[in-house]
Amino acid sequence: MAAAGRLELSRKAAFDGLTGLFNHEYFQNMLSQEISAAHRYDRELALLLIDIDHFKQFNDSWGHQVGDQVLKDVAQLIKSTCRNCDVVARYGGEEMVVIFPSTSKVDAADAAERIRNAVEQHRVHHEGHQLTVTISSGLALLDSEEEKDALIRRADEALYRSKENGRNQVTLA
Ligand code: GH3
Ligand code: MG
Ligand code: MG
Repeated sequence: MAAAGRLELSRKAAFDGLTGLFNHEYFQNMLSQEISAAHRYDRELALLLIDIDHFKQFNDSWGHQVGDQVLKDVAQLIKSTCRNCDVVARYGGEEMVVIFPSTSKVDAADAAERIRNAVEQHRVHHEGHQLTVTISSGLALLDSEEEKDALIRRADEALYRSKENGRNQVTLA
């Protein structure tokens, strides 16, 4: 196969086409690696799961294309708020995820709140309207000897509590 074709294949293997973030599979692989390294070298690690609030309603009101623009915008806001070494991925649908390697609970919570605030302040200009969305998120710090699926589950449970408690907020697991 030509080099350009191989490059295209490897790009598709790692990146989500809409947002340009890493895709789900790449995220799972990176999280496995980062968790192994964190346990081996006794480093902290935080996982943030993000979900756009009432996004079905947003799509129904403004159309799927505007919804797609929001996904791209939120992806960029998350990336610009994080460090280069943080892994930002599209978990699926309107859910995104950030791996914070070597990051304390306080620093990860700060980052999560900065992301939440950046999305809340963001305006999407559409046919004279200034549209807004909010996000809910769940933050979990890796426990000693904890495995990947357990960490994801705790972040997901914390995200669920953010939804239950009124959305547009960060919950620590
Ligand atoms: P909640 O606050 O509880 O998260 O409500 P929600 O409406 O965001 O949650 P729900 O899971 O009911 O709906 C998710 C919506 O996200 C529905 C789906 O159409 C939308 N969505 C998922 N992927 C995409 C996408 O790629 N583009 C667009 N425009 N919308 C998407
Ligand atoms: Mg969702
Ligand atoms: Mg949602």
